[in-house]
Amino acid sequence: MHKKAEELMFADLLSFGENGRINLFNGSAFLFPSEFILNLEEKLSPDDIYEFAKKMPIPIIKILCDRKMGDLERLDFLLELAEVFGMGSISIPNFDQKNNTHEVTVTNTEKNKVSCHHTRGYLATAFSSSLNKKFECKENECITTGSENCKFTIYIKD
Ligand SMILES: [Zn+2]
Repeated sequence: MHKKAEELMFADLLSFGENGRINLFNGSAFLFPSEFILNLEEKLSPDDIYEFAKKMPIPIIKILCDRKMGDLERLDFLLELAEVFGMGSISIPNFDQKNNTHEVTVTNTEKNKVSCHHTRGYLATAFSSSLNKKFECKENECITTGSENCKFTIYIKD
């Protein structure tokens, strides 16, 4: 099992109850096949998906902050957590705090027919909350359009 998933289960932050309830970060969760989610996303505009996805990690970030997790530790945690959520394996080939621009590569991601707007939103919030700045995220290359990996830039909007 993924190391982070094991940690979460051990810390009782992820559990599968006998009563059909999944508990994730002290709230209930649903586990749907990605096909179902993608069909829903097709009904939304890319900007809507992006803005919705920005809200997704907020309850988790609140718990991590309550537990006094440090900023960069929290960013690491959130990026590993994205793997648990099935968004693929995340690396940061360029982390540039001086210019407030960061490059993120996501590998092992599923071919996502609506592109990676939910991943963009999740990354924007993960970086914004951890580095205390308002970051946006754009995708520069996507496996949907034939690239080997999905590549994102985290940046501050002018
Ligand atoms: Zn992509």
